[in-house]
Parts: sequence; structure tokens; C-alpha cells
Amino acid sequence: MAFAPATLHSVALATLGLLAFIAALFVGSLVLPGPARTGPRKPDGSAVRYVFNGMALFAMSLAAAALVQWLGPGLAPVARYYGSLVVAANLLAWPSALVLLLVGRADRPKRLRDFFLGVEQDPALFGVDLKLFSYRPSLIGLCLMNFSFAALQWQERGSLTLAMLLYQAGTLLYIANYFHFERGMLFTWDIMAERFGWLLLWGDYVLVPFFYCVPALYVYRRPDPLPAGAAVALVVAFALGFWLFRGANAQKHRFKETPQAPIWGRAPRTIGGRLLISGFWGIGRKLNYTGELTVYVAWTLLCGFHSLVPYAVPAWLAGLLIQRAARDDRRCRAKYGAWWEAYCRHARFRMFPYLY
Ligand code: NDP
Repeated sequence: MAFAPATLHSVALATLGLLAFIAALFVGSLVLPGPARTGPRKPDGSAVRYVFNGMALFAMSLAAAALVQWLGPGLAPVARYYGSLVVAANLLAWPSALVLLLVGRADRPKRLRDFFLGVEQDPALFGVDLKLFSYRPSLIGLCLMNFSFAALQWQERGSLTLAMLLYQAGTLLYIANYFHFERGMLFTWDIMAERFGWLLLWGDYVLVPFFYCVPALYVYRRPDPLPAGAAVALVVAFALGFWLFRGANAQKHRFKETPQAPIWGRAPRTIGGRLLISGFWGIGRKLNYTGELTVYVAWTLLCGFHSLVPYAVPAWLAGLLIQRAARDDRRCRAKYGAWWEAYCRHARFRMFPYLY
């Protein structure tokens, strides 16, 4: 497959296309029904109200993608115009970060780092929280990029390889799980503690959709068939990682919402009633990160070893999660003090036993 070169014309079209895509998702976020929840109280006493209609939006996006694939021009052109889309996403993300800086209310003079890290924690537009919203174009965009490489393979071969089928199944399950469990975002670091600036914006609108889909390109390009034994091993690795990732996140979420809810069939054990030491959280302090990394490694291995480029994705994620685990550790030590020290003595490692 030859990528279409990024010209002024193709970048302009890609920018319009991306704007329309984001606008459609925003309107959907405004009007679609979904359960409403109030987030955890912030240190200043305020709390944000969220409407979790991401799953309905995701389902509608899948239906629209199916229509485009079977009745319209197909999704393959999306893959061909990858370069133009990356430029367009940057053209949208950088000025948007500047707008956030300019309109953000600050209780002190704004500095350069505010552009990157953000000014406000919970900016909203027409009542839609922009931080939670941005995960929608991010992950639906990633899903469509992944599909576009499958569409290209289908167009060229008339079938999909086993590696492509497994890649699509794994990534689709991972993204569907996000929307099914969207309310789980309430107790994540990004929603609770991060401000909304370039870092999150660029991550959501550029990095996730256009970098995390790179393994799809290499699964599409894989010249040799995936051996059956390797397929079984990778499915098992994926299932194990997914169980850790989803299981740990769900346990923490349930504990935060209903502290008495049983974990693995027993009453939860805690430190100070605040830190969970049952289930995955009693074994390691960041097994949700370990699980997510395992999932990414498993589907990247579907690319084979003809190029190391796709391995940049799990390598990047490993760096990000390892650094984030250390940052979160510092945050929790400052917040929980002696309880956190006791927790670290109980669950001795963060992500990897004996290593980290
Ligand atoms: P966590 O979901 O682990 O949330 C961290 C917070 O959970 C802590 O700050 C603390 O907050 C609370 N906490 C920690 N330990 C305990 C415990 N034992 N009992 C009760 N509460 C505890 O981290 P993230 O928000 O960073 O990640 C959420 C998910 O997103 C993860 O699965 C991660 O893998 C994924 N992720 C994916 C990325 C990607 O690019 N693909 C990037 C970043 C994250 P509190 O103050 O509320 O107690």
C-alpha cells in the first residue's frame, strides 16, 4: 500500500473530516441518554457531573462505520490518508491547547508550563466535561484507524489474515470495554488530578488514535501467516492481561462506590478503610498497569518480527506507565502518609514482582 502524500488539499480535507467527526461525537454526547453520576469531591469541595453515554455513541459509530464500509466508499481511504490525518490532528490539537490556556481562569499569572499541563482541571462546554469527552474521539478514532487497515487488507486480498482477525478482535474488545466501563474513569488519575492542557489534548487527539494504531499497519503488512501455536499463546496472554487490567480497575471502582462490596467472594480488607488490600490490590499496587501492558504486548506480537517499529507502542506505554506509577506513588504517599507506607509493606511491588 502506498500512503497518499500529504498535500495542502488532502490536509485541508482531513482537517474538515476530523472536525466533522469530533463535532458529531460532541453533539451525540450532548443529546444521547446515559446514566448521570457526580464525580468525587475535589479538595475545594466542588464535584463534576458526568453523563456516561459513551457506549451509545460507540455503538452508533460502529453502525456508521459499517454503513460506510458496505454501502459507501469503504474505510480503506482512511488508512491511505494516514499522513494527512496526522498533520490535521496536530493542526487541531496545538491551537486548541492555546485556546484552553487563553480562556482558562487562573488564580496566578499564566506560565509556559500551563500551556502544556493546562490551567483548569474540569473545563466544560455546554455542560459536557471536555476531559471525559476527549476519550471518545480518541478511542473511537483509534478503533476506526484499526478498522481502516483491515479494510485495506480486505480490499487487496479479499480476505483477512488470522493475525488481522485476532488484532481486530483484541483491540475492539479493549475499546468496547472502555465504553462499557466508562464510569470507571471517575476514579482515575486523569479525571481526579490532571489539568486539561496540551498534554492530555495531544495524547487524546493525536497520540492515541494515530500512534496506538501502528501495530495494525504492521499486521496488515505481515508477509507470513501466523502459526497456530503462536496464535493460541497470544490469545492466552491477551486473556490473562485483560483479566488483570479489567479486574483490577473494576475492583477499585466497586470499592470506591460501595466499600462493603465483596471482592473474590469475601468482605474487602482495607488499611484505614480507605486503601483496598483485597483482590488484585492486595498483591501488587499497579496490576491494572501490568494487565494493560500485557494486552498491548500480546497484540503487537501479532505483527511478527519483520520490523521493530510496532514495538515502539508497547515500549512507549511501558515507559509511560512506569513513570506514572512512580508519580501516583508520590501522590498517594503525600495523601495517605503512614497508611500508604503500610500498604507498600503489604503489596510489595507496583507492576512486576521483585522488579518494580
Ligand atoms: P489507577 O486507576 O491505578 O488510579 C490511581 C488512584 O487510585 C490513586 O491515585 C488512588 O487515588 C487510588 N488508589 C491507588 N491504590 C489504591 C488502593 N489500594 N485502594 C484504593 N484506592 C487506591 O491509575 P490511573 O488512573 O493512572 O489508570 C487508570 C487506567 O487507565 C489503568 O488501567 C491504566 O492502565 C490506564 N491508562 C492507560 C493509558 C494509555 O495510554 N493506554 C495511560 C494511562 C492510564 P485516591 O486518591 O482516589 O485514593
